[in-house]
Amino acid sequence: MKMNTYQTVIVGAGLTGITAARQLQDKRENILIIDKGRSVGGRMATRRIDGGKADHGAQFFTTRTVAFKQITAEWLEKGWIKHWFGDDHPRYASVDGMNALMKRYAEGLPAVLDKRITRIKKHDSGYELTDEQGQSVAIAEKVILTMPIPQITELLETSGMDVVPDLKNVDMTPVVAGLFSFETTPASEKGRIIGDFHEGIDRIIEHKEKGISDTPVATVYMTGEWSKKHFDHDAEETLSYIEQQAAPFFGETSIRTRQLKKWRYAETVNPLNTSTLKLAVGLWAAGDSFLRPEDEAGTTRCESAYLSGLDVAEAVVREQ
Ligand SMILES: Cc1cc2nc3c(=O)[nH]c(=O)nc-3n(C[C@H](O)[C@H](O)[C@H](O)COP(=O)(O)OP(=O)(O)OC[C@H]3O[C@@H](n4cnc5c(N)ncnc54)[C@H](O)[C@@H]3O)c2cc1C
Repeated sequence: MKMNTYQTVIVGAGLTGITAARQLQDKRENILIIDKGRSVGGRMATRRIDGGKADHGAQFFTTRTVAFKQITAEWLEKGWIKHWFGDDHPRYASVDGMNALMKRYAEGLPAVLDKRITRIKKHDSGYELTDEQGQSVAIAEKVILTMPIPQITELLETSGMDVVPDLKNVDMTPVVAGLFSFETTPASEKGRIIGDFHEGIDRIIEHKEKGISDTPVATVYMTGEWSKKHFDHDAEETLSYIEQQAAPFFGETSIRTRQLKKWRYAETVNPLNTSTLKLAVGLWAAGDSFLRPEDEAGTTRCESAYLSGLDVAEAVVREQ
């Protein structure tokens, strides 16, 4: 096999992409994952701030299916995650941040990071994936696209490929979040700052009490509706507004530093009713927006990403 030629290339190293890659590697496929980020993990993300750290994408995950319960049990056994809160409906969190969990999960997988794929072209030998500089990154018999659906659509369009209406119609909401470090730790229930939030605040999580940070750091998540309205506003003004609204819930402590994080594509309004989609021969789409038809929750979440990763890998193997 020639250099940079693979059986399957997976674009996106979030939970979906890593899961698909692991399944295919277990089947001895020659695979490669490519991600535009400097780390694996995608929306399962952690940021360092003022000597501490904060998750600023997914905070926890829940388990409804046997398959996701199985991998959750493995991660618990290895000490990678913990039961954070909730008895009837347990919420699991990473012991040291979601990014660290994803790094462990992706260990041993061949990956190219910091590389954005901007074109896919079909040749006789397979699909060629090209980066922003027009450089060929890889050639693969099969490709799995696991980015948020609007980014899949954009890639297909810039590559001159057809985009099925199912994908075009998918709508995703953004999330804007403010990260704050403190002098002393604000009161919370194991990191969950409880309050009667208004003016756009969705939830506030403090990470020292959550157990992943040496110093107190909180993430303030704004609602999808608020985030949509303010997404392109001035960063400093946005942060000041979030700080002003969240301050009453921080108590007596003072803020040391602050940062803004914006997710353009956070959650899907109208997820698809299929856990994977074949776009063309050897070209597949997957991700948290692709729900199994029997999905009970009906929402995009870590579990739907995991299941889609499993299902797309199986579909790719079956296609051979
Ligand atoms: C603010 C926020 C809070 C959340 N809270 C929760 C929660 O509490 N519980 C829960 O279960 N879920 C939560 N979620 C959802 C959860 O994070 C996602 O469902 C899951 O992480 C999605 O994984 P994925 O692999 O499908 O997609 P992603 O994690 O988005 O992975 C896609 C990857 O593709 C890469 N990529 C995109 N375009 C390109 C390109 N052109 N070339 C190369 N790489 C590319 C991206 O860098 C990214 O790493 C939250 C999400 C957000 C944003």
